[in-house]
Amino acid sequence: MKIAIVPGDGIGAEIIAEAIKVLNVLDLKFETEFALAGGVAYASHSHPLPEATLKLAREADAVLFGAVGDWRYDQLDRPLRPEQAILGLRKHLGLFANLRPAICYEQLVGASSLKPELVSGLDMLIIRDATGDVYFGQPRGRRTAVDGHFPGAQEGFDTMRYSRPEIERIAHVAFQAARERNRRLTSVDKANVLETSQFWRDIVTEVSKDYPDVEFDHMYIDNAAMQLVKAPRKFDVIVTGNMFGDILSDEAAMLTGSIGMLPSASLNASNQGLYEPSHGSAPDIAGKGIANPLATILSAAMMLRFSFNQADAANRIESAVKDVLASGLRTVDIYSEGTTKVGTCAMGDAVVASIRRKATAG
Ligand code: NAD
Repeated sequence: MKIAIVPGDGIGAEIIAEAIKVLNVLDLKFETEFALAGGVAYASHSHPLPEATLKLAREADAVLFGAVGDWRYDQLDRPLRPEQAILGLRKHLGLFANLRPAICYEQLVGASSLKPELVSGLDMLIIRDATGDVYFGQPRGRRTAVDGHFPGAQEGFDTMRYSRPEIERIAHVAFQAARERNRRLTSVDKANVLETSQFWRDIVTEVSKDYPDVEFDHMYIDNAAMQLVKAPRKFDVIVTGNMFGDILSDEAAMLTGSIGMLPSASLNASNQGLYEPSHGSAPDIAGKGIANPLATILSAAMMLRFSFNQADAANRIESAVKDVLASGLRTVDIYSEGTTKVGTCAMGDAVVASIRRKATAG
């Protein structure tokens, strides 16, 4: 198992260090190599994604990524800004499938913007195609309208498109992920209005025939957005296109109430993956030792599950995180009265200790 470790900027190095600590306690054999990306890479290599980092990422089975972003480089031309590192990795590794679990931990139920009885027990997974759709479709641009409501006026336009192979591959990822969970999948589209969505719906239905053991339905995006805040627990896995997924995954993330807890995975066709917390480099708290490392630790668990087929080890990490929360330890972002505030390192240590305790007890 070869892992490229890319801490990046801001709190990246602090949170990645805790994830490595946790991986090292699992008795699995890893080969790890570190690489630079983001502002730190720009500072030493004049580019946010140096060739050496890209090479290492390509050769590794998985990339464990911290975060990039540094206000000192915000004035650079866009291709040289730190954030281009993550976009470049996604593009060059062909990471088309973005997986974002939204889990509301029992102890953090109060942090959600929804009522506790709606989010208590929430555990869902949103799978979004991340390389297609109207975000990438050509042609796009500005032109003079030849028809529509105002012929002759300036207009902006984009192209929504999906090919059969693009839909098939993301549908397979989703059905397989549903099989590993509660075997329920909802495909979200806007087939009542959009040709692209009707095509999406037809192809996902075809793929569903390969997975008779997975309960499967379709939902329009407007209804899905409503159901997510009305009755989020009825979802298990959602699969959708790039734009709808972009919106729904942020909506679902907020249901859990805590950005420092949310992991993510981006997979390519050979199950090579990039794993990262959903949050950014948090420059406002970098170097203070107070960042929450749990999203990164949970991203490492996703890496074990999806890239290395080590579901058991992933479960051990996830169960340890639940234990640590149950014991009342909280980093500043999830702190509430009556709990114990700890720093980044102490939170990582607590997860390690819980894994060790269970191994000894088991
Ligand atoms: P952010 O997610 O970095 O921070 C938002 C707020 O959440 C901040 O107050 C921060 O302190 C807090 N926060 C974030 N992660 C936390 C953690 N683990 N523990 C405790 N608190 C945490 O978003 P932002 O401030 O909008 O962006 C900062 C930089 O990160 C920008 O340069 C942005 O471009 C970049 N960014 C990078 C990624 C990525 O690397 N994938 C994603 C989003 C933003």
